[in-house]
Amino acid sequence: MTIRSHPSEATLLAYAAGTLPTGVSLAVSVHLQFCSLCRAPIAAWESVGGTVLEALPEAEMAEDALAQTLARVSEAQSSPTLGKAAKVEIAGIELPPALAAAGVKDRRWLAPGIWRAMIPAGSAGPAETYLLRLGANHKIPLHGHEGTETICVMKGSFSDVTGRYSAGDFLELDETALHRPIAGPEGECICIISSDAPPKLRGLLGLLMRVFEGRRESR
Ligand SMILES: [Zn+2]
Repeated sequence: MTIRSHPSEATLLAYAAGTLPTGVSLAVSVHLQFCSLCRAPIAAWESVGGTVLEALPEAEMAEDALAQTLARVSEAQSSPTLGKAAKVEIAGIELPPALAAAGVKDRRWLAPGIWRAMIPAGSAGPAETYLLRLGANHKIPLHGHEGTETICVMKGSFSDVTGRYSAGDFLELDETALHRPIAGPEGECICIISSDAPPKLRGLLGLLMRVFEGRRESR
């Protein structure tokens, strides 16, 4: 499996420091389940209990903090802290411990072939975190975002104008992104998605989906 899209250094550092919004942190935890490349520095940071991060002058955090931190902890023994707790599976996917602990609500069908399962721990105010399932070749209407949207693919693949993403791939989209994701032909695609605000769907299909979703969730 080749993961072509990883969290930024800033996101990994914030994850290690525990300062990410809960939903984004959960999406990172999913990525770490797939990606040993990003898992190694996180495990090293966790093994030294964050003291290294605290010791870094604040001004150094933005630029090459990841490289500096790695250098400082290179002698520290990294212990695998990504758990062996009770396994929780959804649609055949083993959830990372953080996500299993956070809890995932029941799946609700939004449209034929498309379901969503909310993650309340990452949904406060306008922010929403959820699992989204698209059947093979199913697509989400063209949409943009009020704020940022974080996506990590858990199963299958999807494509948009920026490329094709498969299991483990992690995307951070800002408010300028406008896309129309479509699931790959090989089978269902399941992602964890965390957004600052609900997507702004365009067109009639988008409007119908919002109405349909509202009816489903008000039952
Ligand atoms: Zn990675």
